[in-house]
Amino acid sequence: MPTIKKSVEFSGVGIHSGLPVRMVVKPSKRHGIFFRRVDLGKNLISAKFDNVGDTKMRNTTVGDINAAHVKTIEHFMAAMFMAGIDSAIVEIDGPETPILDGSAIEFYKTISGAGVTGGKMKRIVVRRPVYVSAREVFQSLPFMLRAKIWFMNLLSGCTTDGFVKLTPSEKKSLNISATLVYREKIIGYQNFSYSYDGTKKSVQDFVKNIARARTFGKYSEWEYLKKHGMARGANENNVIALNSNGDGTLNKTFWPDEFVRHKIIDAIGDMFTSSGFIIGNLESYKGSHAMNNMVLKKLFSNPDNYDIIDA
Ligand SMILES: [Zn+2]
Repeated sequence: MPTIKKSVEFSGVGIHSGLPVRMVVKPSKRHGIFFRRVDLGKNLISAKFDNVGDTKMRNTTVGDINAAHVKTIEHFMAAMFMAGIDSAIVEIDGPETPILDGSAIEFYKTISGAGVTGGKMKRIVVRRPVYVSAREVFQSLPFMLRAKIWFMNLLSGCTTDGFVKLTPSEKKSLNISATLVYREKIIGYQNFSYSYDGTKKSVQDFVKNIARARTFGKYSEWEYLKKHGMARGANENNVIALNSNGDGTLNKTFWPDEFVRHKIIDAIGDMFTSSGFIIGNLESYKGSHAMNNMVLKKLFSNPDNYDIIDA
């Protein structure tokens, strides 16, 4: 049960709530990553896939959306995974992690800088393929929500032909391939692959090519989203803003394909709600947090689908 050697702290605003938040990551002897909403009480909120309450707002939320919960945990979870830490208590005084610069770099640097103690995390070996389609996720939602998403998709030109697939790998690594297809020219079709095999080299690859990739959104949607309680903390310092023509961005990008590289961060973070190192191939075609969550639920719904190897 690797945990963080000493406590580290982050502060900033939540990207959706816009609220200021302070978060302290502390060592723990208990397996798993748990949030504690210090503004609400002492209860622990598990950062596991089976405690994911809400993914419709384009982020991953753990806990009860109507009570104690923590939103947008994915970038932080990706950093914890890459730092090799599967056990910690995260005290947080608000409903959402700080967005920082919209990427995972600050989370990763601070957490890995604090050091790790207590061995290696368990491995979860995918034995049988598991598949989730966007249509499946959509159909599992309540009618009113479906109507809202249908409207948002209409605005953004999203379709429901995406899928997320977990398959067995011959290598001892997590191999992620992400594809984005957008009608906005600046994104268009983008694909990026990344493999994590537990070596320093694969961590360096993450730091160099993925960790800095920021979240993105359409500037023209901000007003609508803000009205509906989303993106209230979004600004040019934490989101790549696409212009209304869809052929450029209002702020500079680090790479032309920064968008799809960010999708890799989201996928790593979401896969880590499994609480282990998944050995397998994750193919994400126009994937989403909701599909990532459902694919884990399917994987763990049948013991024949996976093996757990304790390190
Ligand atoms: Zn993200």
